[in-house]
Amino acid sequence: MSNSGKLEVLIPRSLCEVENFYSLKVDDENLASIYIAWEKGIVSELKPTNIDNKKPKKILFPRFVETHSHFDKSFTFEEFPNFKSNYQEALSVNLKEHKTRTTNKVLNRAEKSLILALKNGYRAIRSHIDTYETQDNNIWSELFKLQKKYSSNLKLQFVALAQLEFWSTPNGEEFAKRFSKENVILGGVLVPPFINKSRVKHLLSKTLLLAEKYKLEIDLHIDESSIEPGAGIKVLLETIDRLNIKVPITCSHLSSILSLNDYEILKLGKKIAEKNIKVVALPLTNFWLLNRKDERLSLNRPVAPIKQLQNSLVDVSIGSDNVQDPWYPFGNYDPFYLMTLAIPMLQLSPRDRLTLSSFLLAPSRLLNLNWDGLIKRGCPADFVLVDAEKWADIFSSNLKREVLINGELYS
Ligand SMILES: [Zn+2]
Repeated sequence: MSNSGKLEVLIPRSLCEVENFYSLKVDDENLASIYIAWEKGIVSELKPTNIDNKKPKKILFPRFVETHSHFDKSFTFEEFPNFKSNYQEALSVNLKEHKTRTTNKVLNRAEKSLILALKNGYRAIRSHIDTYETQDNNIWSELFKLQKKYSSNLKLQFVALAQLEFWSTPNGEEFAKRFSKENVILGGVLVPPFINKSRVKHLLSKTLLLAEKYKLEIDLHIDESSIEPGAGIKVLLETIDRLNIKVPITCSHLSSILSLNDYEILKLGKKIAEKNIKVVALPLTNFWLLNRKDERLSLNRPVAPIKQLQNSLVDVSIGSDNVQDPWYPFGNYDPFYLMTLAIPMLQLSPRDRLTLSSFLLAPSRLLNLNWDGLIKRGCPADFVLVDAEKWADIFSSNLKREVLINGELYS
């Protein structure tokens, strides 16, 4: 199969770097008409098309990056449904599911997720894996085998999602030490109400110090809540200051801070940016699970205030979170499903550089990928090509797509 080719396509203007851009034709939706060629899997040419009055019929994207998923529990909704559709019930069903969990079940869910993700156009995924004292130890060695098996097509990153208490136990320390070579990220949950705040601070400090000791990153489910706006992020910032520590941190969710006023969000955003903390907004699960009120239809839905955070120079990614499990019953590892829902629900515009950055470029930075996702000469020919001429075609339910990996059609 050939790994060279050429095409005339549309590319969102902010996702490509073109020489001779003076003659570039960009339409009202910021889609640029481009001639692209690649040789041996690498983009060799990128220039404005010279055809007048003829618009290319395909839109080209870099392959996508998923910043937040849970494929250890994906596709469990049928067996473990949550018809109350709230956070508390999701947690309780999740714990029931843990009792039946085996290494094989986790591997099957993970592999099903990976196959879908690849076919739908992802090139990298960060997945949280529930981690607890009674867990079958084999799970991790098998997950690393899976990571290796798919490594030529997709980069897989794991977060060990445990209660913060776990990282203060001998098992937690042993885990961090054992998997430091694999760069497993330490995960935790920091969601109010905090019954004993000083204990929370103590546990968080222990987790941060453990990450520093083994040079690991941290990714927290933080302020995934509709109460006590920003309680978790405030504790985190205080703790980082007190320890004077520099550990790479991702804050996933951060949804409750939407209830703060604009000035408070801006102030908090500046501190988050100063500490180089990255944020992953997860609108689908937030809108689905949080602030549900049985007695009336509540449309007061928390989600990380993406635009305000970006204005404070925080690097914000938008991720999918759960797929067909007690936390969210829909989804199928499809970046276009995510964009189709998230862009209108968050009142973002696909014309905007920062919107597309949050789906493609910020995620590449978050996962520290070799390629930032910008289409330019010398980048890998890793594309998703869709039959579309405008954004409305993309946000339709019957999108036809082709995935190219290193210049070759993936099938
Ligand atoms: Zn999550």
